[in-house]
Amino acid sequence: MPVAYPTTYDYRVDSEDRICWVSPAWEDFARQNGAPHLTEGAVLGTYLWDYVSGEETRYLYRLMLASVRTRGRTVTLPFRCDSPTLLRHMELRIAAVPRGEVKLRGVLLREEQRPYLALLDPSAARVDKLLTICSWCKQIRVSDLEWLEPEDAVRRLKLFDAVRLPRLTHGICTSCEAKALGESDAPNRR
Ligand SMILES: [Zn+2]
Repeated sequence: MPVAYPTTYDYRVDSEDRICWVSPAWEDFARQNGAPHLTEGAVLGTYLWDYVSGEETRYLYRLMLASVRTRGRTVTLPFRCDSPTLLRHMELRIAAVPRGEVKLRGVLLREEQRPYLALLDPSAARVDKLLTICSWCKQIRVSDLEWLEPEDAVRRLKLFDAVRLPRLTHGICTSCEAKALGESDAPNRR
């Protein structure tokens, strides 16, 4: 089914990582993704890092931005921008522009409907238990070594029986960490 809103949005950050420009499609995309407060006026001049959840995610973003700036390379990273009823497959492209600025482009590749998933609903009631979700691919950590798609994690952890769900905290799964490190100048894992 064709998507009825822009599928590409661009923004730029200055040499200090402050958002200095957003494309006209920015606000439409923000509205369609449950973030109508992120207007052009609200985000210009603010730091990119205000919108990145999780220390590890910020660390990997910083590595990639540094690589883009110092080597002038372009980085492409798949990510998901899911909602409780949609899987949104996206791609982030990060490219250098003059004066230390960096251009970031989010591209919606495709959407898939999913049966409503309470775990991904920010308004669902939560208990104090924490569950880690990968900031990029939205897989859920179910054990030290295993990350699963949200639906599979719900089945594995029997969360459909839960009256109240665990809170989600953001991290990076092993596969996304490897991809991000591969797109940066980091010699090896931390
Ligand atoms: Zn991941």
